[in-house]
Amino acid sequence: MRCEGSCCRLQPGHCLPSEFESAEAVRAAVVSGKYTIVLLFDEHIMARVVRPHYKDPEARKGCIFLREDGCELSFSERPYGCRMLKPKEQDDGHCEPQGASIEEAGRMWEESGYLPPIWSSIIPVK
Ligand code: SF4
Repeated sequence: MRCEGSCCRLQPGHCLPSEFESAEAVRAAVVSGKYTIVLLFDEHIMARVVRPHYKDPEARKGCIFLREDGCELSFSERPYGCRMLKPKEQDDGHCEPQGASIEEAGRMWEESGYLPPIWSSIIPVK
C-alpha cells in the first residue's frame, strides 16, 4: 500500500557518512543547496546529521526531492533513512524505521571527520 509521501512532506530522511566519499563531497552537497546539516540537541545528544534540505526552509517542512509524483531520486540514490523506512501496510498502520536511528547517524557524523568541529557551527548569541 502506498504511503503517498506522508513522511517526505514532513521531514527528509537522514544520510550516513558512508553515502559521501569525503568531507569535500559533503561540502559540495551542502553548498548545492540540496542538502543541509541539522543539529540534534537535547539532554541526551548534541550531534549533527546531513540530510536533504527542506522544500520549505522557512517552515522547516518537506523534502526538496519530493515531487508531485513522488521522490525524484532513484531508490539507491535516496538517503539511508529513506531506504530504511518500511512503509505502512494498512491505512491505519505506521511506517516503521529500521536500521540506524537518526541519533546513531548523528554520532556517526560527529566521528566521521566529514564535518567541521561542532563548536565552529554554533553562532554566538549577542
Ligand atoms: S529523499 Fe525522497 S524518499 Fe527521502 S524524504 Fe526526500 S522525497 Fe522522501
